[in-house]
Amino acid sequence: MTSGYAASAATGSLASGVGWDADPRVPAWPGLAPLRGETRADVCVVGLGGSGLAALDELAARGGLDVVGLDAGRVAAGAAGRNGGILSCGGAMSLSDPSVPVESVLALHRETARELGRLADALGPDVVQPTGTVVLAGLPGPDRDEREALERERATADLARDRAVREALGLPVEDYDGPLGHGIRLPDNAVMNPVRRALGLAKRAAGDARLHEHTPVTAIRPGVVETEGGRVLADRVIVAVDGRLDLLLPRLSGLVRTVRLQMLATEPVEPLFSGAFSARDHFDYGQQDREGRLLVGGGRDRFAAESETAEAVPTETVQGWIEQVVERVAGRPVPVTHRWAASVGFTDDGRALCIEADEGVVACGGYSGSGNLVGPVAARAAVRLALDGTPPPDYLRSTR
Ligand SMILES: Cc1cc2nc3c(=O)[nH]c(=O)nc-3n(C[C@H](O)[C@H](O)[C@H](O)COP(=O)(O)OP(=O)(O)OC[C@H]3O[C@@H](n4cnc5c(N)ncnc54)[C@H](O)[C@@H]3O)c2cc1C
Repeated sequence: MTSGYAASAATGSLASGVGWDADPRVPAWPGLAPLRGETRADVCVVGLGGSGLAALDELAARGGLDVVGLDAGRVAAGAAGRNGGILSCGGAMSLSDPSVPVESVLALHRETARELGRLADALGPDVVQPTGTVVLAGLPGPDRDEREALERERATADLARDRAVREALGLPVEDYDGPLGHGIRLPDNAVMNPVRRALGLAKRAAGDARLHEHTPVTAIRPGVVETEGGRVLADRVIVAVDGRLDLLLPRLSGLVRTVRLQMLATEPVEPLFSGAFSARDHFDYGQQDREGRLLVGGGRDRFAAESETAEAVPTETVQGWIEQVVERVAGRPVPVTHRWAASVGFTDDGRALCIEADEGVVACGGYSGSGNLVGPVAARAAVRLALDGTPPPDYLRSTR
């Protein structure tokens, strides 16, 4: 089904819009003028999500560069402003995939943890909370059918393996036994409000670079970025777009594909858990914010055909699934206030991409649903590749 979501059967309410955008910082954001006409720059960054904003930070740290940054919509109009807000050290790369060298797992873990530290230092506890996250084999409560019971059995074994690998590698991990059930707790993970992160970083970046919102890029060639209302002539171009990267740079379509993920937000409820959870191989996930709202997503595996699309509107079936996840977490149905979807980039091996797509044009993306920290790590590597010719580390070299 590809139609937009109409009404919630469980709540009877009509809900749309991005839950995070209820934050007062969103209407207070002054906005950035669209690019009109032609301009020159040393570097043009396409995409002002978490990754593009990290690229701008890396470029500013070098000093003396004339940098232009562009986004098709508002800052973090894509997944970077619409996600679960889970800051997961290590990202989506498998810990037990034998084809991934242990050194890569550790290096990515180290770099993402460093990125988390940077973010916490830059934006403080108002944006980033070091709560840790809980990983569950299955959703809270008894299994509802045989499929769920089998999934839980397999996921329990996977979690035990994951726990053992983490311990062997010296990565922090604990048992979790709490209101959500049993699982593991990853104490070095954190949660954030993604819109606050993006607007906070953009405010800082605007002091060092010329930033333009509502400036869709229509074509990228070596030295030239064409936009709807103008163009940027730039020696180097960094494309920091996760979802729809294959549409913007079709030559990458064999390496990365666009997938739709969905979430909803509820009215505030009493405190249920702290930080964030993920369950069923991370297919379902969510956090409870300080106001008590539940911001929950999931269901991609249950409705796989609906997810393989570049459309970014919520659908009835997936939203129905997420309502069920909320019900399991809260112990009852909770009125839904917002429903939304966004595009992300997936690779077949779960490794991100950082690649020279054309002469002087470096692209990063393909974070397989876990780009809040890996994206910025990849974007910094993209800057090094574009400006110094430094090859990216192998955890950023998806080959499948
Ligand atoms: C529902 C959902 C839940 C998620 N939950 C989590 C989570 O909890 N933890 C986690 O780590 N990851 C999560 N992710 C994944 C994560 O959000 C992304 O991997 C990450 O935000 C990617 O950031 P980015 O800056 O690389 O790309 P994007 O967020 O895709 O940003 C790219 C920017 O480029 C702009 N853009 C796109 N095309 C053009 C164009 N042609 N011209 C100009 N600008 C353009 C977009 O408007 C956008 O602002 C989730 C994603 C979704 C959708």
